[in-house]
Amino acid sequence: MPEDIIRCDACPVLCYIKRGMTGACDRYANHEGQLVRVDPQLVLDRAKSHGAPLVRFLGPDRDWDGGVVKGSEAFVTAIGAGTTYPDYKPAPFIVSSEIDGVDTVTVVTEGIFSYCGVKVKIDTDRHLGPERNLVRAQGEPVGHVTTGEYGSQMLSLGGVTHLTGGTKKEGRVTCETLLDCCNRKPVELAIDDGARIIVEAGKPPIVNGAREERMRVGCGSAAIGMFARQWFGKVDEVIVVDDHITGVLSEHQAGKLLGVRETGVRIKGRRSTPGRYFQVAEPGAGWGGTNITDPLSIIDPFKPNLAWPHLRLLMVSTTGEQFAYYELDESLRPIEQQLPETLAESVARIRENCEPALSTVLFMGGAGGSLRAGVTDNPVKLTRSVKHRFTRVTCGGAPVYVWPGGGITFMVDVTLVPENGFGYVPTPALVAPIEFTLKLEDYAALGGHTDHVRPLSSLLANGRNGESAQNGGVSASPPKSSEKAPR
Ligand code: SF4
Repeated sequence: MPEDIIRCDACPVLCYIKRGMTGACDRYANHEGQLVRVDPQLVLDRAKSHGAPLVRFLGPDRDWDGGVVKGSEAFVTAIGAGTTYPDYKPAPFIVSSEIDGVDTVTVVTEGIFSYCGVKVKIDTDRHLGPERNLVRAQGEPVGHVTTGEYGSQMLSLGGVTHLTGGTKKEGRVTCETLLDCCNRKPVELAIDDGARIIVEAGKPPIVNGAREERMRVGCGSAAIGMFARQWFGKVDEVIVVDDHITGVLSEHQAGKLLGVRETGVRIKGRRSTPGRYFQVAEPGAGWGGTNITDPLSIIDPFKPNLAWPHLRLLMVSTTGEQFAYYELDESLRPIEQQLPETLAESVARIRENCEPALSTVLFMGGAGGSLRAGVTDNPVKLTRSVKHRFTRVTCGGAPVYVWPGGGITFMVDVTLVPENGFGYVPTPALVAPIEFTLKLEDYAALGGHTDHVRPLSSLLANGRNGESAQNGGVSASPPKSSEKAPR
């Protein structure tokens, strides 16, 4: 090999990198003949000094003073640590420190996740597309619409099938989409037979060009329960239009308790329980996530034996964005009137109770594979240690939820991970920081690479971690049992 070229072995792509150039993922470079990880190793104290958003990492049993690190302790994240993949050598950094007099080890690596994806929660009532329909980016299938949640539509993006099971382009676009979602960039998606949306973690979603402002106050039935008292005496009937559960005040338990008189209103759709109706219309981008623009289209003529002329009817959507007020004429037909001031207040109250609509992105990855070999000689012991909570798992310092059952399948809110904490390799797969923190004695007991433990001070003193990346994080100096981390 020519002298000015080195080979990166941090992932299976095995790039040849010329002097002064970077590899395919832009994470590694040839700096004066040395393989270096180009992003700085992120230690949370450093992030703090730069004003980057920080997260708590200590357990709930500890007092938290509002700072991200306790006392003078720094926490070494895996961001910028480098990779060992597949993990045929110890993790890039196995760092010792002392916490409350206990010798502790944090094993950090930038894991390469072929099995990963994101779950996207989009706070909107608007129908984005039928469940199970494909979600596309740049025309490529990258995920699907999954089960809707309370006031939110859900997408499941990525996963090994899209990354590896389709065409090369599908895998590449899926990887790019996941990376942008995780690094909190705006991502444009199109849903088959549905909407075009732009999602950006922590920002309002944009649905068909319209920026979503409010997450609904609740379903139609819940809205009746919440506001029945405010309507009582000011109006005779209220219908809260919702694609899922439309509520009707006079029939609803909340109305019954207040003694609201029967009105003879007749709702189209399927009656579930008194005052709660399903399927009053088709899903859409109209009132309450239905396809209607005229609310009267969901009611049939009033029952003449129960209704009366001048009956006052309020129809409102679950966000309070759409509303209409009617009074029945002598033939019991609803005639639209201006909303009385007394009711305008209650409609405003619905809007006030809606939370700001956001897009939320959770990264989900499986760390129960070869990545464990970078931590211990006996991988299953790490899995058990995580399950028994002897080992704490974090992602760029952010707390994660580890799924019960086999493996180490975790989820993390990407807005808690320091910015640009995620990367990729062209295999294609996502690179995500992962840290395992445990007591030194537990680390030894699970067959950890104790001969590779290095003090945190050696990491902070070494401005460039290129040597470590090349050497798989092996410290040249003999290991010390622990060291108090510096400020
Ligand atoms: S893609 Fe990145 S990590 Fe993989 S071999 Fe190339 S430079 Fe190294």
